[in-house]
Amino acid sequence: MAALEAESFIFYLQPKYNILTNKIIGAEALVRMKPSENISTLMPGDFIPLMEETGDIVKLDFTIYQQVCEYIKDRKKKNLTLFPISVNVSKRQLYNPYFAEEYIETKNRYKLPDGLIELEFTESIFFEKYEVISGIVKKLTEYGYICSIDDFGSGYSSLNLLKDVSLGVLKIDRLFFENLENNKRGDIIIRNVINMAQELNMKIVAEGVETFEQLEFLKSVNCDMVQGYIYDRPMPVEEFEAKYYNIK
Ligand code: C2E
Ligand code: CA
Ligand code: CA
Repeated sequence: MAALEAESFIFYLQPKYNILTNKIIGAEALVRMKPSENISTLMPGDFIPLMEETGDIVKLDFTIYQQVCEYIKDRKKKNLTLFPISVNVSKRQLYNPYFAEEYIETKNRYKLPDGLIELEFTESIFFEKYEVISGIVKKLTEYGYICSIDDFGSGYSSLNLLKDVSLGVLKIDRLFFENLENNKRGDIIIRNVINMAQELNMKIVAEGVETFEQLEFLKSVNCDMVQGYIYDRPMPVEEFEAKYYNIK
């Protein structure tokens, strides 16, 4: 189990694009295992569920968050273009009473301007301890974080949630537009979810977009941003830098 120490992990970046301009406007940090000779590389799906169970995920999330803060600080120092980078937050953080304080304290220590870190809370987090998570999102937003709801539509999304919690971004789960053809009802739902979220001043990211048909459809329903293999897979930071170094 030594390989599951938080220090054994790094992050890859997957760009998010403005659907109209085709320009990169942000990226999501996704955990990856550091390559090692004596252990085969596992993907998040192979180790995150176990770490959720043991509680190790809390430390892992914080490690990735710190690495991302370091990365943004470094880009700032080099006067490179800055855009928001999102990190994932496990629902286990709900049981960590110091979660918001720890994250805010770290952001202050790195002297990061507001609006550059996005925290992605998976939809299911809102069905546990609703009051707690609503309070946390409110506080983090006040402290300059962009808070988003991840995997929207993958579970039992509650519209109440959008009514009560002021989130900046809604990420539509890829399951939503997997079978676009022959699914007029699905179209209507996506179209209206996007309208509703925009009226609530939220930005929309469609994730897991793989085909041009999906992209065209998402344009036609006014989706703001797209993240998916159609543009880029998650990639090591060095590769990301090489590809986007000159982006203004
Ligand atoms: P997620 O947050 O929904 O992240 C998106 C996942 O979809 C990523 O998988 C990404 O590689 C994949 N993806 C992106 N575009 C496409 C596409 O066009 N098609 C398909 N089929 N997949 C696409 P990944 O990196 O394997 O991560 C899986 C999940 O693990 C994440 O889902 C997230 O829930 C979790 N995860 C990743 N990093 C962290 C972390 O640092 N902390 C926590 N708590 N969870 C993490
Ligand atoms: Ca995510
Ligand atoms: Ca997601």
